[in-house]
Amino acid sequence: MSKDPNGIGLTSQRVRNRLVEQLRGMGIASEAVLELVRTVPRHLFVDEALASRAYENTALPIGYGQTISQPYIVAAMTELLLSTGPLGRVLEIGGGCGYQTALLARLAGTVYSIERIAGLANRLQERLLDLGIRNVHVAHGDGREGWMAHAPFDAILVAAAAPDVPVSLLGQLAVGGRMVMPLGLPGEQTLMLWRRTSEGFLEEPVQRVSFVPLVEGVS
Ligand code: SAH
Repeated sequence: MSKDPNGIGLTSQRVRNRLVEQLRGMGIASEAVLELVRTVPRHLFVDEALASRAYENTALPIGYGQTISQPYIVAAMTELLLSTGPLGRVLEIGGGCGYQTALLARLAGTVYSIERIAGLANRLQERLLDLGIRNVHVAHGDGREGWMAHAPFDAILVAAAAPDVPVSLLGQLAVGGRMVMPLGLPGEQTLMLWRRTSEGFLEEPVQRVSFVPLVEGVS
């Protein structure tokens, strides 16, 4: 069997369209986000053995005990960040396999992505370059501190959960900017949205979610 380089089989446009319709049915309304789900090749971000499942609305293993986030939650977080308009600088904590990073890169001026596992950070960088995506800076590090040198950010996306929000992250948000992050312990996490106004921060719960933990230090 060939590796299906042209995406004719299980990774075909028909399969991608089905995922898009599923996400639309679940409430994703941004056509810009849905178009990215249709066009960004998620099967290139997972192991070849799992490529045939890449357009199912499910999380999949990416090695090192981590998972690629479910397409619905990637789309929902992206939509939440986009709703203020075009994005200049975006900070992503927990780049993982780089699929969410690729979506953000198509919508933002520059994406700064921090990943604590060296093997994932390296692979993420290579994959994005292979896809011709050049507006992403990847750092291997502990993202809880943010990336002060490039702050403030128009949007911050945290793809791993913690009981409390790291205070340094909120401080790196631009006025008018938005941040999304899952808060809580395993089994009882809530995706939270913060908006920074000239007066301070507005915080609102969005929905129940399930993410891997935000871990201290690097690996
Ligand atoms: N959006 C990614 C999500 C991967 S899972 C994807 O779809 O592939 C969450 C990622 O957060 C993991 O890769 C994990 O290694 C990373 N992570 C956990 N704690 C972190 C921290 N303190 N700093 C940076 N990355 C972290």
